[in-house]
Amino acid sequence: MTDVAISIRGVSKAFGAGDNVHYALRNIDLDIRHREILMLMGPSGSGKTTLLSIMGGILTPTSGDIAVDGVSMSKLSQRQLAQVRLSSIGFIFQEYNLFPTLDCIGNLLVALDLRGIRGTKAKAIAMQRLEDVGMSDKAAEYPAKLSGGQKQRLAIARALAGDPRVLLADEPTAALDSENGLRIMALLQALAREHGRAVVIVTHDNRITRFADRVVRIEDGRLHTARTPEEAS
Ligand code: ADP
Ligand code: MG
Repeated sequence: MTDVAISIRGVSKAFGAGDNVHYALRNIDLDIRHREILMLMGPSGSGKTTLLSIMGGILTPTSGDIAVDGVSMSKLSQRQLAQVRLSSIGFIFQEYNLFPTLDCIGNLLVALDLRGIRGTKAKAIAMQRLEDVGMSDKAAEYPAKLSGGQKQRLAIARALAGDPRVLLADEPTAALDSENGLRIMALLQALAREHGRAVVIVTHDNRITRFADRVVRIEDGRLHTARTPEEAS
């Protein structure tokens, strides 16, 4: 496995066409390494979610290329791309995307089932992930009954269920109080340090920038790299 988890080269993304074309990303170059927590900061509308979605293979760039663990996504079929997403990438969406008809443990079991993990093994992993985010007492609860912070933690547990090599998180602590925010950051830090995972976090949250190994700022779809968290704030 190479040290670089995701390599982004010359990526631009345009929305719309003709006179209405809008470039959400302009000529982005960025490497995300295993074992590091990279934070992506910038004003609303600057392109953070678009870049995260491209890293996760959810959006395709208008130009440029992305490689995950050395595999260029532009050379893959839709089916192969889906396979890479499933085996390599955990995505925590801003709007959670929980399954409303499944209880908390069910939300995790379905993610594990997609990866071929079933039965007692799946249940044990699912309970461990709920425990990791402080939600083991909510296993049989449905998402509608959860607070915003609990939904957020469930979404994080689900993204971690399949033990992805790369974790992409859009504002993962926005809905959390300080205690739960720190708990989640400690969890993500352990994932990077002890398990060598690459973690990319989009955030506005100044409380968590000290967990970053690297902070990258984005403005009007262009990257400005800062060397340390202090330089970025
Ligand atoms: P951020 O996450 O930093 O707030 P986004 O990546 O969501 O920013 O959006 C960047 C720019 O791209 C914004 O101007 C936004 O309006 C535009 N944009 C994002 N998604 C779409 C879309 N699906 N269609 C058209 N424009 C979009
Ligand atoms: Mg966004």
